[in-house]
Amino acid sequence: MQSLVLERQGELSLRDFPQIDREEEVLGPRDVRIKLHTVGICGSDVHYYTHGRIGPFVVNAPMILGHEASGTVIEVGTEVTTLKPGDRVCMEPGIPDPNSRATRLGMYNVDPAVRFWATPPVHGILRPTCVHPEAFTFKLPDNVSFAEAAMVEPLAVGIHAATKARIKPGDNAVVMGAGPIGLVTALSALAAGCARVFLTDIAQPKLEIGASLSPAITPINVAHEDLAARVLRETDGWGAEVVFEATGSPKAAAGIFPPLAPGGCVVLIGGQPDPIAYDAGAAMVREARVENIFRYAHAFPRCVNMIASGAIDVKPLITRRFDFKDSVQAFEIAASAPAGDVKMQIELPG
Ligand SMILES: [Zn+2]
Repeated sequence: MQSLVLERQGELSLRDFPQIDREEEVLGPRDVRIKLHTVGICGSDVHYYTHGRIGPFVVNAPMILGHEASGTVIEVGTEVTTLKPGDRVCMEPGIPDPNSRATRLGMYNVDPAVRFWATPPVHGILRPTCVHPEAFTFKLPDNVSFAEAAMVEPLAVGIHAATKARIKPGDNAVVMGAGPIGLVTALSALAAGCARVFLTDIAQPKLEIGASLSPAITPINVAHEDLAARVLRETDGWGAEVVFEATGSPKAAAGIFPPLAPGGCVVLIGGQPDPIAYDAGAAMVREARVENIFRYAHAFPRCVNMIASGAIDVKPLITRRFDFKDSVQAFEIAASAPAGDVKMQIELPG
């Protein structure tokens, strides 16, 4: 069946991938078969395309891309009880080893054995169908669209970050970076009770999209303005209780403590391929709590509920759609990183 294949760094093709049918399409008793509907293009997919690797994960063989997905159940295994053919679903892309120590401790996201879609050597789901465990497949309420459901995966990162921050009602937060992850983090921080989010970027169009999401989001263009000075000015000199770093830029990460309030929390979300400057003294005098997140663990049900109830609206983040037949072009456009786009999605034929 036709799949979007990353042949090697810089080379994509839409072609048959017969190996998938043999190796990954066998339906186990607790699996479901899903017809894919919508797949979001993630920064990680684009990075594999442009760089051929992310840290230790290297594309050494052709790999199907895509991990932010929604679709419809078309077949269920003999022991499946919660899903049936026709159910609309979204899927969590990482499948941990249920017997691993990390899984048994409740932190399966850091299980080194986790098999995560479109992370070499595991194939992604830019293909017509896939087989997935029932336990990592989540039924959608009628009022959640396929497009919104394909946003659950990035939203789960924001919800996990907000959970780790232990936000209290009325906290002020800084979100560094107005890309897709920064924006879902800002929405998650507000939904968790923040009074205000100071959102930073150096691309004005991204800040404008961010500011349009809520009157509680204050955009700050850090190309022209000092973040810490502005935050201190607007918080009676106290600072923000929470700082989320969602750029992955070493320069931004070097500035996490100056806007942080005493006793505040920093959550590092953006991936850093190399060691970064960390001002231990600035952290100490604030008694700062520093949290790191890696993907998320069991956040999908919360995300689906928040989209369904209207507590979080991800629709404004979906800025472009492509047909599956135009997938290669979609990735070329995504790789050019248009400043006015947040999330691009690919729709598979019905
Ligand atoms: Zn993603």
